[in-house]
Amino acid sequence: MNSMYAVALTGKNALTLQKREYPTIGPDEVLLKVHAIGVCGSDLRIYQNGDDRVHYPRVIGHEIAGEVLEIGSQVTRFRMGDRVTLGAHIPCGECYFCQKNEGHFCVLGRSVGYQIDGGFAEYVVLPKEFIENGSIQKIADNTSYELASLSEPFSCVLSGLHEVKMEAGDTVVVYGAGAIGCMYIAAAKKMGAAKVIAVQRSKPRQKLALEAGADIVIDPTITDTVQKVREETEGLGADTVIITAPSAQVQKEALEVAKQLGKLLFFAGNKSVKETSLNTNHIIYKQLHIVGTHGAPRHLHIEAVKWIDEMLIDFSFFVTHTFPLAETEKAFQTALDKDGLKVVVIPTQ
Ligand SMILES: [Zn+2]
Ligand SMILES: [Zn+2]
Repeated sequence: MNSMYAVALTGKNALTLQKREYPTIGPDEVLLKVHAIGVCGSDLRIYQNGDDRVHYPRVIGHEIAGEVLEIGSQVTRFRMGDRVTLGAHIPCGECYFCQKNEGHFCVLGRSVGYQIDGGFAEYVVLPKEFIENGSIQKIADNTSYELASLSEPFSCVLSGLHEVKMEAGDTVVVYGAGAIGCMYIAAAKKMGAAKVIAVQRSKPRQKLALEAGADIVIDPTITDTVQKVREETEGLGADTVIITAPSAQVQKEALEVAKQLGKLLFFAGNKSVKETSLNTNHIIYKQLHIVGTHGAPRHLHIEAVKWIDEMLIDFSFFVTHTFPLAETEKAFQTALDKDGLKVVVIPTQ
């Protein structure tokens, strides 16, 4: 066992299966055998556009679940064979935000699969800062690695619901029914949303939105979303609006869809359009509560693992495709095709 396979990003739109040296770890490090690694929307963005923090060749991927294989002599928190799932961020532990337990805003901005090699590989080395300040959570014996790999994206969903302050009884509009959108739909229902209205263009995902628990799906190519939401809410508009579709048009429309005193979550980054003009009078005169979220603090990653261990919603629904490591490129293409929801690579397959 002196080599391993990894899929490295070697340039834009270039993923290369490489035979690499079997990793050796230092006294403060942990070696993890990767059992499942999810393809994140951010992985797709890095694949297509590159990222300032990612230098080639780099093994990307941060939605990792796996098994502790080797432990450095100084590491006391883990045992060999521990089954774990990871958060994405590598907080330094010392900066202003880390001290405030908001390590996802660490000034160093380090994440697994960005400045260090991530999970599209047979093994991944977890560095000291990650072990000390990041999130490595043990999973229940009967939780599969495949579902455990959803803990990172789901922690981001929980962070959004937490910040937007959705309440039981709310009518919730969710724009976009990809993996994240469907997680929002299912979690909002579980947390007591009275009615969830999904807005989704593609037909396959309209069906998935309903299966995830949406009460109504609006196809914006044939229905006026603002009008339809008013019809469904006695003319008042939605209590909570969650935007998981990266669209400036949707961001504008969301302000109209919300009722007076409504709450809005801007979740999806809008990479192609840097500036969006919004009718700020809606914000003022409707007294809207608007938040954005990005990533998740550690305590919400712990919550996410609890949701998965307890199967508070049907997490198996979100994983629609799995691929072996050698087919990582195909996994990325499948995710880009947007027919299904979460695509997960299983390096042990
Ligand atoms: Zn992710
Ligand atoms: Zn920090």
